[in-house]
Amino acid sequence: MFKKVLIANRGEIALRILRACRELNIKTVAIHSEADESAMHVRMADESVCVGPASAQSSYLNIPAIITAATITNVDAIHPGYGFLSENQRFAEIIEEHNVKFIGPNSQHIKMMGNKISARKIMKDNNVPIVPGLNDISDKNKIKQFIDRTELPIIIKAASGGGGKGMRIIKDYSELDKSINAAKLEAKKSFNDDTVYIEKFLTSPKHIEIQILSDSHGNVVTLGERDCSIQRKHQKLIEESPSTILTQKERDQISELCRKAVLSLGYEGVGTFEFLYENHNFYFMEMNTRLQVEHPVTEMITHTDLVKQQILVASGQKLNFSQDDVKIQGHSIECRINAEHPETFIPSPGTVTQYHQPGGLGVRVDSAIYQEYSIPPHYDSMIAKLITYGDTREVSIQKMKGALEEYVIIGIDTNIQLHQKIIKSDEFISGKYDINYMSRFD
Ligand code: ADP
Repeated sequence: MFKKVLIANRGEIALRILRACRELNIKTVAIHSEADESAMHVRMADESVCVGPASAQSSYLNIPAIITAATITNVDAIHPGYGFLSENQRFAEIIEEHNVKFIGPNSQHIKMMGNKISARKIMKDNNVPIVPGLNDISDKNKIKQFIDRTELPIIIKAASGGGGKGMRIIKDYSELDKSINAAKLEAKKSFNDDTVYIEKFLTSPKHIEIQILSDSHGNVVTLGERDCSIQRKHQKLIEESPSTILTQKERDQISELCRKAVLSLGYEGVGTFEFLYENHNFYFMEMNTRLQVEHPVTEMITHTDLVKQQILVASGQKLNFSQDDVKIQGHSIECRINAEHPETFIPSPGTVTQYHQPGGLGVRVDSAIYQEYSIPPHYDSMIAKLITYGDTREVSIQKMKGALEEYVIIGIDTNIQLHQKIIKSDEFISGKYDINYMSRFD
């Protein structure tokens, strides 16, 4: 087992990983920017190293500084968390070259899945249903034929895309050239890769994803699904598990396809297959080769510590449970609490002057903020994840209502009120919402 792990992240996920390490008796090294000197992950870690100035580019994305920190603190492994360098193939590769274990899949798998076109091809070869699309858009005639076949709308997406960037929906053929150029520009700027491709745009799907966990000995388990359809600008806001609309047969079928794909790839670690789901059909969108923000809802309903499992399999251990042992019980919901105005969505960094966190049976808060903490303006605005768990969805919703009511964060704006509205809405309660929910809500 690892003796010391460097956590290449900040905020709630750095704490989440730190806690898992503690339970496994692993020492931790936090990295931080100059702006994060008093952050909770730095206070709680056994050691910490400043890796650069406030901007993420100069610190949490600064590969040479992070590798130097790993070398001087003599760690056996690096956990990347999510975001930042978690899906950076080069980072994983450099870590491998330094004989330090990257807690995640090998760099080749990150590369294969990091490119959405290549991921689509692999999934197709593995009988995982994909969104109908056109990977090569160099021939205008082919685009025309594709549109004639599938009909508008279509969506242009960046091959290296992430965070909803580089996407353009086309409802009218005349918008095609302009939208392709705009998507290419945005993709180039965000990912330094202007390759874009086309998918059929599904008009009212749900976003449903399957969690997998795999060791290096050929054992793979699937841990149910998450419904992440409550999104704003393609950013998830609320996630729940299980989904209200999947039948057990559908769950089993899609999970088995994912399991087989993971086996045939020889993939190791945690991973997520993201699908759009419409009219009882699944359409693969992408695979995330890392821990997801929304992993807690899966942990709650499967009673599995995904971060601990991730560390254990990375250290070479065999999974100590099989698919038959995975029992989905109860219902869990996660609300992402952001430091932003509930109506304008403008980020609201600043000092938290008063803080009271909800608690009680079935209420979990994953957060790194505290009273008098000053939220820096340089990073993502998510400051907490509020997770509830109950025997039924109704209980989970009821607990979420209570927890949101109880949550006090003064000094900055948050989206708590927005969550309260959503949770109470008939559409959310019915469970029949799709990915357009928030655009109707605005
Ligand atoms: P990213 O990696 O940038 O987050 P995804 O491929 O995961 O991009 O898509 C993000 C979101 O965009 C999806 O959850 C969905 O809401 C929307 N989306 C993406 N592709 C399609 C599509 N073909 N049809 C309809 N909506 C889509």
